[in-house]
Amino acid sequence: MKSSPTNKTVAIVLGAGKGSRSDLGYNKMFFPMGEKTVIQTAVDKFRIPEISEIIVVAAQSDLCRVKAMFPDLTVIAGGKTRSDSVRRALEHLESKSFKVALIHDGARPFVSQKLIRKVIKTAAASGSAIPVLPVVDALKEVSDGYIRTTLVRDVTACAQTPQGFEFMRIRRAYALTIGEFADDSEVYERSGYDPKTVPGEFSNVKLTYPHDFMRAEFMSVGYGFDVHQLREGRPLILGGVTIPYERGLYGHSDADVLIHAVIDAVLASAGLPDIGVNFPDTDPQYKDISSAVLLERAMSAVKKAGYRVGSVSATVVAEAPRLAPYIVRMRASLAALIGINKDKVSVSATTSENLGATAEGKGIAAKAVAISYRVIPENENRQ
Ligand code: MG
Repeated sequence: MKSSPTNKTVAIVLGAGKGSRSDLGYNKMFFPMGEKTVIQTAVDKFRIPEISEIIVVAAQSDLCRVKAMFPDLTVIAGGKTRSDSVRRALEHLESKSFKVALIHDGARPFVSQKLIRKVIKTAAASGSAIPVLPVVDALKEVSDGYIRTTLVRDVTACAQTPQGFEFMRIRRAYALTIGEFADDSEVYERSGYDPKTVPGEFSNVKLTYPHDFMRAEFMSVGYGFDVHQLREGRPLILGGVTIPYERGLYGHSDADVLIHAVIDAVLASAGLPDIGVNFPDTDPQYKDISSAVLLERAMSAVKKAGYRVGSVSATVVAEAPRLAPYIVRMRASLAALIGINKDKVSVSATTSENLGATAEGKGIAAKAVAISYRVIPENENRQ
């Protein structure tokens, strides 16, 4: 069947904001989500047969970089405000004809293709489609620090994107308005239409504030395990804390088994090779080195790889000595070396109940897990 151009849909994805509320220190559109960035993840959702053209709007300063991300798409520079950016995209499409235009915030990468299809279908049938969610909190009108009115929640909703419109109508609506508007449905509304709603998605969040970037989707976990023999004539150092005991751990470095497990956990959480690769025990520079120094170096590598460690949890398996009196100090010492708050580091101690080598007191083992967040995109050359 020959498809007429007027059945086609165009998608405009907006990525021209600065995203300064995210506190990332760089444009949130470039925040990494696995192999892709936020803007790539959002744009790729619109690569479906129903959509014949995608236009990406980027900030002038990011234009080259965004163009390189989408060699097959049209990338244009946005304006000063969101509304200006949409206006520019619609002007760019002036000579073209579509049935439906979708306008989407590039900071909503979790949108489903099911919602995109629903918006296209509804907009084609009803002239517009705005995904909305019910308001969960009580809604107040506030000014100068005081609540002035309580709004009726039943007649309010939160509007998401993508918002879909009959192409000719939204183009005319933008051509007839000047200034900045909350979203595209407001512009459409002002041109005399009632925008039609469709149910939105709770997962379709707009990444805005720092906590939006601390999501499970962005986390990775790392695990570490180590064991060292106990020998006479060695100090016992665990988690950077010297513990009075008649024997100590034997190894090439100071043999701090707890720190070694933590190092492997943080390195693994950042996708880096393990302690043996980073600090080989055949290298004389690591002979008797303090493992605290190794953990600090591992943390630099983690940061350089673009990760921030969120929390660490470790267990020491030792028959003796009793470690309970030193747990608080070990936590504080590890937290300082990792550069996170004490309450984000947990250390527990256990015996192995007369089973295995650690039970016979021949050695001490340690296990650790770390959770990290990717905070800087791969290949981003930042200091
Ligand atoms: Mg070791």
